[in-house]
Amino acid sequence: MKNLEQRNQIIEYSLKLNSTNLSPLRSGNISLRGIEDNTEGYLITPSGKKYETLKPEDIVFMGLNEEEEKNNSTNKPSSEWRFHRDIYVNKKDAKAIVHAHSPHATAVSSHGKPIPPFHYMIALAGGDNIKCAEYATFGTKELSKNVIKALENRYACLMSNHGQVAFGKNLEDAFELAQEIENICHQYTIALKLGQPKILSFEEMKKVLDKAKNYKKG
Ligand code: 13P
Ligand code: ZN
Repeated sequence: MKNLEQRNQIIEYSLKLNSTNLSPLRSGNISLRGIEDNTEGYLITPSGKKYETLKPEDIVFMGLNEEEEKNNSTNKPSSEWRFHRDIYVNKKDAKAIVHAHSPHATAVSSHGKPIPPFHYMIALAGGDNIKCAEYATFGTKELSKNVIKALENRYACLMSNHGQVAFGKNLEDAFELAQEIENICHQYTIALKLGQPKILSFEEMKKVLDKAKNYKKG
């Protein structure tokens, strides 16, 4: 089977979506940039399947120019293939994408607002806030357009009344970032219960962003 190693890796991380409570049941989706038959594209989880039932042949390859209608796989690609495709087209450094309905990120996303720098770890998303993509129906071109806008100069964003999406240089990286976004949202919900948290200044976040460039080792 073509790209067997990558297909197995997607299954491994799909199972982790459930086992780590990053995305419950059939929610969320995962993809990896890849090439099949000399075509540039990405491998993506199928739509609506239980993660524990996934087999390598269930993972769908989609070309970067391919529309779902033309896909001849027996499985339908994730309903969110458009924003996965559009992220790969727009972000050359995106090699893997994790979309999750993680509980705290989803709760915060329902406010439809960016998360201000109440904690310096906000910088992990790539800037001095975490933006929230405007709401649009799941699986639509409009949602994809809104996600791309919220990912401008960012590696992750919230999706209003829906969840979050993160990308990285590999699946481990994208998954870890999605976990970090969930942690930050958990902390933010607790902070809001105590009133309005103190927000770090633009100058402080600039310092943090400069330092963060050298933080990840190995
Ligand atoms: P899929 O099963 O089609 O990937 O849908 C899950 C989801 O999270 C939609 O936003
Ligand atoms: Zn979703």
